[in-house]
Amino acid sequence: MPHPLLTVEDVAKAYDGFQAISNLNFYLFAGELRTVIGPNGAGKSTFFDLLTGRAKPDRGRLEFGTDPAASHDLTRLSEHEISRLGIGRKFQTPSVYADHSVWENLLLSLRGPRGVFAALFQRTGPADRARIDDLLEMVRLGDKRHWRAGLLSHGEKQWLELGMLLAQEPKVLLIDEPAAGMTDEETHRTGELLLSLAGRHSLIVIEHDMTFVKQIAQQGQVTVLHQGSVLCEGRFEEVQSDPKVREVYLGRGKHDRR
Ligand code: ADP
Ligand code: MG
Repeated sequence: MPHPLLTVEDVAKAYDGFQAISNLNFYLFAGELRTVIGPNGAGKSTFFDLLTGRAKPDRGRLEFGTDPAASHDLTRLSEHEISRLGIGRKFQTPSVYADHSVWENLLLSLRGPRGVFAALFQRTGPADRARIDDLLEMVRLGDKRHWRAGLLSHGEKQWLELGMLLAQEPKVLLIDEPAAGMTDEETHRTGELLLSLAGRHSLIVIEHDMTFVKQIAQQGQVTVLHQGSVLCEGRFEEVQSDPKVREVYLGRGKHDRR
């Protein structure tokens, strides 16, 4: 058994006495695409806040790295340091440079945080251009490379932002509700995109839409969070038929669009 890339053990986090995360144990292996589901308020986004250093746990272990002798203790690192280690997060609302082209947005992400002006006026070499071409192909925006990002549909903006995140070559991608606000067709394409990243990247995807979860979880595991800890973990079908899960989540039918 290899060592996990992310190790989360006995983690707890309270806000004003409310236990958002309690007794959380979670392991992500390199190359996995893990889907995390759970009812509203289950602690899913807080889990990402803890992994990215935006929030600090009250107790527990949060470690990154497959070499146990050289793993990083995420509880001691800042948000910025964690991001530099290669843990990248995609938020729900896309934040792209609306007045710049799709191509320029990707260039800006390749260049990192050094100012839009400097980045755009520096010469672009063949390596940068080839990399941007790869990213355009990955997120399937090649035919819109010259479009102003502000003119893209909501779904296309989400893909562009995913491309911008990939430009930084993250080792782990944390993606919170990527299908929110997308059409069914965009949702399906997003699923294909995420599946194409698995293996080369390690991903944790939080999602509500069960049609989408079923699509992206075809090979991987699903973790169900409830009241800040893991209620159940397994293949989509196992999780779906688990009576505990049906009771707290699926059985309500609230987000179940099948
Ligand atoms: P989910 O993403 O599963 O819907 P969240 O992780 O956003 O759930 O929230 C879990 C609980 O923690 C909620 O009750 C929420 O109000 C609370 N919470 C999350 N972040 C904060 C915060 N920064 N300050 C206070 N309460 C928070
Ligand atoms: Mg959330």
